[in-house]
Amino acid sequence: MRIALMCRNPDLYSHQRLMEAGAERGHEVVHVNHMRCYIDIASARPALHYHGEKVMGVDAVIPRIGASVTFFGTAVLRQFEMMGVWALNESVAISRSRDKLRSLQLLSRRGIGLPSTVFAHRSSDPKELLALMGGAPAIIKLLEGTQGKGVVLGETQKAAEAIIQAFSGLQAEFLVQSFVKEANGEDIRCIVIGDKVVAAMKRKGAEGDFRSNLHQGGTATTVRISPAERATAVKAAKAMGLAVCGVDMLRANEGPVVMEVNSSPGLEGVEKATGLDVAGKIIEHIERNAKPGANRTKGR
Ligand code: ADP
Ligand code: GLU
Repeated sequence: MRIALMCRNPDLYSHQRLMEAGAERGHEVVHVNHMRCYIDIASARPALHYHGEKVMGVDAVIPRIGASVTFFGTAVLRQFEMMGVWALNESVAISRSRDKLRSLQLLSRRGIGLPSTVFAHRSSDPKELLALMGGAPAIIKLLEGTQGKGVVLGETQKAAEAIIQAFSGLQAEFLVQSFVKEANGEDIRCIVIGDKVVAAMKRKGAEGDFRSNLHQGGTATTVRISPAERATAVKAAKAMGLAVCGVDMLRANEGPVVMEVNSSPGLEGVEKATGLDVAGKIIEHIERNAKPGANRTKGR
């Protein structure tokens, strides 16, 4: 097969591994930098131009779109879809998952465990917002944040109110969420491919940090997940419509609660922690599923 790896930096560990895993299985993996693509829209013959040439003969596309370029990246991916190229994750599902609020709304509709979360216009009364989710301690989360930046813990009522006022003053949109203290600064990242969890790791925040993001100095170890956690991860992936994703959850007293579903999960942490060939499993999923015109959504 000819597989297009859509990403900006082909030298990143995850992208190197996907190219390697594709080549090992006899595929041609070509790098396409979406930021350098030209979308050619004409009636009945959608095309993409890259490096001065028409992109042709691609059987499958692996999108690895960074959060900061979601708008442009998903437009290029959508163009592949218009051309009938099979996408590992589809543009609609990626856009959906990039919106923290929309994601939580879709997950809640499916009855997936979530931390109790409140969203209101930033001009709302901080006291009322906090009262709705049970008061301090509270997590205040910028809708635009990634990698743990923009996630703040308001330990007391006063602190939580002050954080809400500060974010409001900056004209930022944010969620207010109950703090899952019993998670102890740890979260579980499950990698879902198709309808299976193929790998899982536990991430622990740096000393004194309640955030477990590896970008914030957290460390990863392999973990055995419970049947409830496994089922939650698969259900969350399905709710978002993502074939391949990382589902982040906390171990709350009431069971697993999902924080987010990531459409381009990093492979380095999880492959190194578990010793598993996640990139290879992604390529195998493509081999089993890629068919021309078989995308589920049509850019809607
Ligand atoms: P980002 O998208 O920036 O990674 P997350 O929502 O995943 O933001 O939060 C970052 C980290 O903060 C999580 O991995 C988790 O360790 C911690 N965290 C987030 N929400 C909560 C919460 N409600 N209770 C306890 N810890 C949380
Ligand atoms: N096509 C809709 C979307 O853009 C479907 C929304 C849904 O899953 O409810 O996400």
